[in-house]
Order: sequence, then C-alpha cells, then structure tokens
Amino acid sequence: MNKKRVLSCIQPTGEIHIGNYFGAVRNWVNLQDKYDCVYGVVDLHAMTMPYSPKELRQNTVQMFIDLIAAGLDPQKSVLFVQSLVPQHTELTWIFSCVTSYGELSRMTQFKDKSDQIEKGSKNSFVSAGLFSYPVLQAADILIYKADFVPVGKDQEQHLELSRNIAVRFNNQFGQYFPEPQPLYTEVPKLMSLADPEKKMSKSMGNKHFIGLFEAEDSIRKKVKSAVTDTGGQAGGQMSPGVANLFTIIKACGKLNEYEALLNDYNNGSLQYKDLKDVAGNSLVELTRPFRLKREELSKDTQLIRRLINESSEKARSFAEKTLNDVKELTGLLNG
Ligand code: AMP
Repeated sequence: MNKKRVLSCIQPTGEIHIGNYFGAVRNWVNLQDKYDCVYGVVDLHAMTMPYSPKELRQNTVQMFIDLIAAGLDPQKSVLFVQSLVPQHTELTWIFSCVTSYGELSRMTQFKDKSDQIEKGSKNSFVSAGLFSYPVLQAADILIYKADFVPVGKDQEQHLELSRNIAVRFNNQFGQYFPEPQPLYTEVPKLMSLADPEKKMSKSMGNKHFIGLFEAEDSIRKKVKSAVTDTGGQAGGQMSPGVANLFTIIKACGKLNEYEALLNDYNNGSLQYKDLKDVAGNSLVELTRPFRLKREELSKDTQLIRRLINESSEKARSFAEKTLNDVKELTGLLNG
C-alpha cells in the first residue's frame, strides 16, 4: 500500500534550538516510518529577510547536517535543498498567476515581517520576495503532491493559501493537485529561559535559548540561570519559568522524575536547584548522541556533499514530472 506523503520545510537561519527540536524536528523524525516524507532546507525562503550570502551557504549545509544528526534518515526520507530543485521557482511563477494580490496582502506573517524590516536598518526594504513567499511555499508543497503538512498555528494561513491555489489551479486547468491537509501533532512549546513569558527563539539572544548541539557545560549553565519565580504568581499558579523546566523534563521523556518533582511542587517541598539539575541532566543526556553524530558528519565533507546531491536529485526527478504535467495543462511548451 502506498504511504501518504508528508512535506515540511525549515529555513537555514542558523542553529536549531531545543524549541525547534521538540516543536518540529522530533516530530519529523517520528513521521518517517509511517509516511513517505519529503523534507526541505529552504534557502530561497531565507533570502526574503536581510541576510549574508556567506552565512546562508554555510547555514544551509549545517542545517542539512544537523537534521541528519538529530535523526532524519536520508535513506528513508527525501531531504532536499530548495535551490538545488529549480522546479520550485518555475512552479512559483505559474502559481503567482493564479494567486490574487488581495490574498497575499492579508498574510499576517507578511505584515509582521515587513514591520520587523521597517524597524531595522535603513538600507533594508520589504522585498517582493517577502510578499510572494507564500506562493513559493505552495509550490514547495504542491510540487510533491503532499497529502499532509505538519503545521503549527503560525503556518495555518499559509497552508490554507496552498489549498486555495490548488483548488483554483484545478478549476482552471483540470483536476491535478491534491489539497494538502494539516497534520496536527501535540508538541510542547518551549519558552525563553531568561524571559519565560515569551516563546524560546534565537532572535531574542543567547541566554534565551539552548542550542540542540550546545556543549554540555553550557547547557547546564543556562538551565541553572533560568528564571524561575518572577515574583509571586497570583492564586498559587506555577510561574512560567518553573512550568517551562517541567515541560523540558517531560519532553525529554523523564516521566518518573517529572512526576516526583511535581509531587514535591504540589506539597511545597520542591527545591528549584533539584528541578534545574534534572532538567539540565535530561537535556545533556538527550542531546549527547546528536552532538556526537554532528561531529562525525562534519568531518566528512565528501559524504555530506554526496548526500545533498543524491537527495536533491531524488527531489528533482519528482518535481520535474509535476512541472512537465503543469506545463502541459497550462499551455506552455514542453520539451
Ligand atoms: P522557526 O525557525 O521559528 O520558523 O521554527 C521552526 C519550527 O520550530 C516551527 O515548526 C516552529 O513551530 C518550531 N518552534 C520554534 N520555536 C519553538 C518553541 N519555542 N517551542 C516549540 N516549537 C518551536
């Protein structure tokens, strides 16, 4: 029986943090056995915000390595680099012609990101690329005829646009694209260590997040200095910093420790030092094999180059077939 296809992508914007791992990458790893998975390192998307060319290239290769180190298997899944599959950008143009200006203007991420750019450096500007980014995203999904896309709340609107594009294309040129459905999985949301009311993110600065490949002593140090009580929560509610440490322990699969510490918390005997020790140790233990695998892979540049080329080639041959069909349907010359 044919497996359903799942597609998901990640931008190569630097190091993966434990929030990305628990919230997205671990789920990708788990989906590999049940679905036919296609995962992408989407370097073209990273060009929509101000960036450095040298860093983009390095980050793209590093993200490819990091995803494998974290458990993605290029033998089980297709793991492509977006710019090595030029059919995505060709399909984007065709899709741009069935996407309305109005629906792109309503994308909340466009509004958020353009505000961010306008507040930044004087030399930066809001590019047409940022505006049409969701069309490229629709091409990423539809070119592989994906059945499911794992989504978080922030991506729901973009997936809906991809469905609208598929429907409009099918109405205009004949039934061709399946409508990709969201795949919801319960994933933990990690908060910043230094400001636990906010989501853990790299852009907040080094003390706010823990990298998935961070050195053991640095992990322990960051957990030790995590904010716990921010000063008396109303109604005896657990403070966000303490709750975040509990979330980390549970996400690491340390359920017995989690229950015992929660019990201590409930009867008022919990020492935050113990909570932090368990959280730090759990993270160190979970991430150790990832660090080792990353070190091993990073030494073998030839292997990485070969894996990138082979995997992107698999993606290209699939994408090429879709693009040829689309050209046929839309009246373009083919051949
Ligand atoms: P980003 O680089 O922020 O686009 O995130 C890449 C993926 O990681 C997305 O699927 C996010 O939903 C997920 N993610 C990012 N930050 C967190 C976090 N603090 N907790 C859980 N998931 C996260």
